[in-house]
Amino acid sequence: MNRKPFVAGNWKMNKTTSEAHQLTADLIPELKGIDSVEVVLCPPFTALKIVKDSISNTIVELGAQNMHWKSYGAFTGEVSPLMIAELCKFVIIGHSERRALFGENDETVNEKIKSALEYNLIPIMCVGETLDENENGRTEEVVSRQLTNGLAGIDANSINGDRVSLVLAYEPVWAIGTGKAATVQDAAEVIANVVRHTLSKVFSSELSERVQILYGGSVNGDNAGEFFAVDDIDGALVGGASLKAKEFAKIIWAAAN
Ligand code: PEP
Repeated sequence: MNRKPFVAGNWKMNKTTSEAHQLTADLIPELKGIDSVEVVLCPPFTALKIVKDSISNTIVELGAQNMHWKSYGAFTGEVSPLMIAELCKFVIIGHSERRALFGENDETVNEKIKSALEYNLIPIMCVGETLDENENGRTEEVVSRQLTNGLAGIDANSINGDRVSLVLAYEPVWAIGTGKAATVQDAAEVIANVVRHTLSKVFSSELSERVQILYGGSVNGDNAGEFFAVDDIDGALVGGASLKAKEFAKIIWAAAN
Protein backbone atom coordinates (compact mmCIF):
# COMPACT_ATOMS: atom_id res chain seq x y z
CA MET A 1 0.00 0.00 0.00
CA ASN A 2 1.34 3.37 -1.02
CA ARG A 3 1.04 5.78 1.89
CA LYS A 4 2.88 9.09 1.63
CA PRO A 5 5.56 9.57 4.29
CA PHE A 6 4.47 12.09 6.89
CA VAL A 7 6.61 14.01 9.40
CA ALA A 8 5.12 16.48 11.86
CA GLY A 9 6.95 18.70 14.33
CA ASN A 10 5.17 19.45 17.60
CA TRP A 11 6.87 22.51 19.04
CA LYS A 12 4.78 22.32 22.22
CA MET A 13 5.03 25.50 24.40
CA ASN A 14 8.24 26.68 22.75
CA LYS A 15 9.17 29.56 20.43
CA THR A 16 8.05 33.18 20.50
CA THR A 17 6.78 34.56 17.21
CA SER A 18 10.22 35.83 16.22
CA GLU A 19 11.88 32.56 17.18
CA ALA A 20 9.22 30.64 15.25
CA HIS A 21 9.87 32.81 12.21
CA GLN A 22 13.61 32.14 12.48
CA LEU A 23 13.21 28.38 12.94
CA THR A 24 10.94 28.16 9.90
CA ALA A 25 13.33 30.30 7.85
CA ASP A 26 16.21 28.01 8.88
CA LEU A 27 14.26 24.85 8.03
CA ILE A 28 12.87 25.67 4.58
CA PRO A 29 16.20 25.75 2.67
CA GLU A 30 17.18 22.42 4.25
CA LEU A 31 14.21 20.76 2.53
CA LYS A 32 15.12 21.81 -1.01
CA GLY A 33 14.61 18.87 -3.36
CA ILE A 34 12.03 17.05 -1.24
CA ASP A 35 8.56 16.64 -2.71
CA SER A 36 7.60 13.16 -1.55
CA VAL A 37 6.96 13.84 2.14
CA GLU A 38 4.09 15.59 3.92
CA VAL A 39 5.77 17.94 6.38
CA VAL A 40 3.68 19.66 9.03
CA LEU A 41 4.78 22.26 11.57
CA CYS A 42 2.70 22.62 14.74
CA PRO A 43 3.83 25.81 16.50
CA PRO A 44 2.00 27.40 19.45
CA PHE A 45 -1.22 29.28 18.57
CA THR A 46 0.56 32.64 18.81
CA ALA A 47 2.99 31.69 16.06
CA LEU A 48 0.55 30.04 13.63
CA LYS A 49 0.13 33.11 11.45
CA ILE A 50 3.80 33.98 11.14
CA VAL A 51 4.70 30.38 10.32
CA LYS A 52 1.85 30.19 7.82
CA ASP A 53 3.21 33.24 6.03
CA SER A 54 6.73 31.76 6.00
CA ILE A 55 5.71 28.41 4.47
CA SER A 56 3.66 29.65 1.53
CA ASN A 57 4.86 28.03 -1.73
CA THR A 58 6.77 25.29 0.11
CA ILE A 59 5.94 21.64 0.85
CA VAL A 60 5.41 22.51 4.51
CA GLU A 61 1.90 22.62 5.94
CA LEU A 62 0.50 23.93 9.19
CA GLY A 63 -1.06 22.23 12.18
CA ALA A 64 -2.33 23.36 15.58
CA GLN A 65 -1.46 21.47 18.75
CA ASN A 66 -4.98 21.39 20.18
CA MET A 67 -8.44 22.91 19.86
CA HIS A 68 -11.77 23.07 21.66
CA TRP A 69 -14.66 21.17 20.07
CA LYS A 70 -17.16 24.06 20.20
CA SER A 71 -17.21 26.61 17.39
CA TYR A 72 -17.37 29.67 19.67
CA GLY A 73 -18.67 30.82 23.04
CA ALA A 74 -17.80 31.48 26.66
CA PHE A 75 -14.74 29.23 26.98
CA THR A 76 -12.04 31.57 28.26
CA GLY A 77 -8.59 30.63 27.06
CA GLU A 78 -9.74 28.11 24.46
CA VAL A 79 -9.32 28.21 20.68
CA SER A 80 -12.07 26.97 18.39
CA PRO A 81 -11.96 24.80 15.26
CA LEU A 82 -13.40 27.72 13.32
CA MET A 83 -10.32 29.77 14.22
CA ILE A 84 -7.90 26.91 13.59
CA ALA A 85 -9.44 26.08 10.22
CA GLU A 86 -8.76 29.60 9.00
CA LEU A 87 -5.03 28.93 9.24
CA CYS A 88 -4.34 25.19 9.46
CA LYS A 89 -4.90 21.97 7.58
CA PHE A 90 -4.05 19.70 10.54
CA VAL A 91 -4.64 19.62 14.28
CA ILE A 92 -3.06 17.36 16.90
CA ILE A 93 -5.74 15.79 19.08
CA GLY A 94 -5.28 13.83 22.29
CA HIS A 95 -1.55 14.29 22.80
CA SER A 96 -0.52 12.44 25.97
CA GLU A 97 0.47 15.73 27.62
CA ARG A 98 -3.10 16.97 27.10
CA ARG A 99 -4.43 13.73 28.56
CA ALA A 100 -2.03 13.69 31.55
CA LEU A 101 -1.91 17.41 32.41
CA PHE A 102 -5.16 18.92 31.15
CA GLY A 103 -7.78 16.31 31.91
CA GLU A 104 -8.43 15.14 28.37
CA ASN A 105 -9.90 11.68 27.98
CA ASP A 106 -11.30 9.45 25.26
CA GLU A 107 -14.63 11.31 25.35
CA THR A 108 -13.15 14.79 24.88
CA VAL A 109 -10.82 13.40 22.22
CA ASN A 110 -13.88 12.02 20.44
CA GLU A 111 -15.68 15.40 20.60
CA LYS A 112 -12.61 17.14 19.22
CA ILE A 113 -12.07 14.69 16.37
CA LYS A 114 -15.70 14.94 15.27
CA SER A 115 -15.55 18.72 15.42
CA ALA A 116 -12.23 18.91 13.55
CA LEU A 117 -13.66 16.79 10.74
CA GLU A 118 -16.72 19.05 10.51
CA TYR A 119 -14.35 21.94 9.84
CA ASN A 120 -12.32 19.96 7.28
CA LEU A 121 -9.33 19.81 9.59
CA ILE A 122 -7.30 16.61 9.49
CA PRO A 123 -6.78 15.33 13.03
CA ILE A 124 -3.42 13.86 13.98
CA MET A 125 -4.82 11.63 16.70
CA CYS A 126 -2.38 10.50 19.40
CA VAL A 127 -2.64 7.23 21.28
CA GLY A 128 -0.22 5.40 23.53
CA GLU A 129 0.23 3.61 26.81
CA THR A 130 1.99 4.81 29.98
CA LEU A 131 5.03 3.05 31.41
CA ASP A 132 2.92 1.40 34.07
CA GLU A 133 0.44 0.14 31.48
CA ASN A 134 3.30 -1.09 29.31
CA GLU A 135 4.97 -2.94 32.14
CA ASN A 136 1.69 -4.57 33.09
CA GLY A 137 1.11 -5.91 29.59
CA ARG A 138 -1.81 -3.56 28.94
CA THR A 139 -0.57 -1.84 25.76
CA GLU A 140 -3.03 -3.55 23.43
CA GLU A 141 -6.01 -3.00 25.73
CA VAL A 142 -5.21 0.70 26.29
CA VAL A 143 -4.38 1.62 22.70
CA SER A 144 -7.36 -0.23 21.22
CA ARG A 145 -9.67 1.41 23.80
CA GLN A 146 -8.30 4.89 23.02
CA LEU A 147 -8.92 4.28 19.33
CA THR A 148 -12.34 2.68 19.61
CA ASN A 149 -13.69 5.33 22.01
CA GLY A 150 -11.89 8.26 20.40
CA LEU A 151 -13.27 7.38 16.97
CA ALA A 152 -16.76 6.32 18.11
CA GLY A 153 -19.57 7.56 15.90
CA ILE A 154 -17.29 8.67 13.07
CA ASP A 155 -18.58 7.44 9.75
CA ALA A 156 -15.92 5.95 7.48
CA ASN A 157 -17.34 7.99 4.60
CA SER A 158 -16.59 11.20 6.45
CA ILE A 159 -12.85 10.51 6.37
CA ASN A 160 -12.64 8.66 3.07
CA GLY A 161 -11.49 10.62 0.05
CA ASP A 162 -8.50 11.10 -2.23
CA ARG A 163 -6.61 11.76 0.96
CA VAL A 164 -7.91 10.06 4.14
CA SER A 165 -8.83 12.79 6.65
CA LEU A 166 -7.16 11.17 9.62
CA VAL A 167 -3.56 10.59 10.69
CA LEU A 168 -2.71 8.37 13.66
CA ALA A 169 0.31 8.71 15.92
CA TYR A 170 1.31 5.86 18.19
CA GLU A 171 3.28 7.51 20.99
CA PRO A 172 4.18 5.37 23.98
CA VAL A 173 4.08 7.91 26.81
CA TRP A 174 7.29 6.58 28.37
CA ALA A 175 9.19 7.34 25.16
CA ILE A 176 8.11 10.98 24.84
CA GLY A 177 10.84 13.46 25.67
CA THR A 178 12.86 10.83 27.51
CA GLY A 179 15.51 10.06 24.92
CA LYS A 180 14.43 6.42 25.16
CA ALA A 181 12.62 5.54 21.96
CA ALA A 182 10.66 2.30 21.62
CA THR A 183 12.46 -0.38 19.67
CA VAL A 184 11.59 -0.35 16.00
CA GLN A 185 10.24 -3.86 16.35
CA ASP A 186 7.95 -3.00 19.28
CA ALA A 187 6.67 0.16 17.60
CA ALA A 188 6.00 -1.68 14.34
CA GLU A 189 4.21 -4.49 16.16
CA VAL A 190 1.83 -2.14 18.01
CA ILE A 191 1.22 -0.10 14.87
CA ALA A 192 0.38 -3.15 12.74
CA ASN A 193 -1.31 -5.43 15.26
CA VAL A 194 -3.10 -2.93 17.44
CA VAL A 195 -3.47 0.44 15.71
CA ARG A 196 -4.11 -0.68 12.13
CA HIS A 197 -6.00 -3.74 13.29
CA THR A 198 -8.34 -1.62 15.47
CA LEU A 199 -8.82 0.87 12.63
CA SER A 200 -9.89 -1.99 10.40
CA LYS A 201 -12.54 -2.97 12.95
CA VAL A 202 -13.72 0.61 13.48
CA PHE A 203 -13.82 1.44 9.75
CA SER A 204 -12.83 -1.27 7.26
CA SER A 205 -9.63 -3.07 6.42
CA GLU A 206 -9.50 -1.26 3.09
CA LEU A 207 -9.69 2.17 4.73
CA SER A 208 -7.31 1.24 7.54
CA GLU A 209 -4.68 0.36 4.94
CA ARG A 210 -4.82 3.92 3.64
CA VAL A 211 -4.42 5.70 6.99
CA GLN A 212 -0.93 7.06 7.69
CA ILE A 213 0.29 5.84 11.06
CA LEU A 214 3.24 7.57 12.68
CA TYR A 215 5.53 6.61 15.50
CA GLY A 216 6.35 9.26 18.10
CA GLY A 217 8.71 9.23 21.08
CA SER A 218 12.33 10.41 21.06
CA VAL A 219 12.72 10.29 17.29
CA ASN A 220 15.86 12.09 16.14
CA GLY A 221 18.04 12.48 13.09
CA ASP A 222 20.01 9.35 13.93
CA ASN A 223 17.23 6.86 14.64
CA ALA A 224 14.49 8.09 12.26
CA GLY A 225 15.72 6.08 9.27
CA GLU A 226 15.41 2.80 11.20
CA PHE A 227 11.75 3.52 11.96
CA PHE A 228 10.96 4.62 8.41
CA ALA A 229 12.56 1.49 6.95
CA VAL A 230 9.61 -0.50 8.31
CA ASP A 231 6.58 -0.72 6.00
CA ASP A 232 4.06 -0.25 8.79
CA ILE A 233 5.57 3.02 10.04
CA ASP A 234 4.59 5.88 7.75
CA GLY A 235 6.43 8.67 9.50
CA ALA A 236 6.93 10.40 12.81
CA LEU A 237 5.47 12.92 15.21
CA VAL A 238 8.52 14.69 16.56
CA GLY A 239 8.81 16.85 19.66
CA GLY A 240 12.25 17.93 20.87
CA ALA A 241 14.12 17.27 17.64
CA SER A 242 11.69 19.46 15.67
CA LEU A 243 12.99 22.53 17.50
CA LYS A 244 16.33 22.34 15.68
CA ALA A 245 16.17 23.02 11.94
CA LYS A 246 19.05 20.78 10.86
CA GLU A 247 18.01 17.90 13.10
CA PHE A 248 14.40 18.07 11.96
CA ALA A 249 15.49 18.29 8.33
CA LYS A 250 17.58 15.15 8.82
CA ILE A 251 14.41 13.33 9.94
CA ILE A 252 12.48 14.60 6.94
CA TRP A 253 15.26 13.53 4.59
CA ALA A 254 15.21 10.09 6.20
CA ALA A 255 11.50 9.90 5.34
CA ALA A 256 12.18 11.04 1.77
CA ASN A 257 14.83 8.42 1.07
C1 PEP B 1 5.81 14.39 21.19
O1 PEP B 1 5.70 15.32 22.00
O2 PEP B 1 4.82 14.05 20.51
C2 PEP B 1 7.10 13.71 21.09
C3 PEP B 1 7.14 12.62 20.38
O3 PEP B 1 8.14 14.28 21.76
P1 PEP B 1 9.70 13.84 21.64
O4 PEP B 1 10.00 13.67 20.17
O5 PEP B 1 10.44 14.96 22.26
O6 PEP B 1 9.83 12.55 22.37
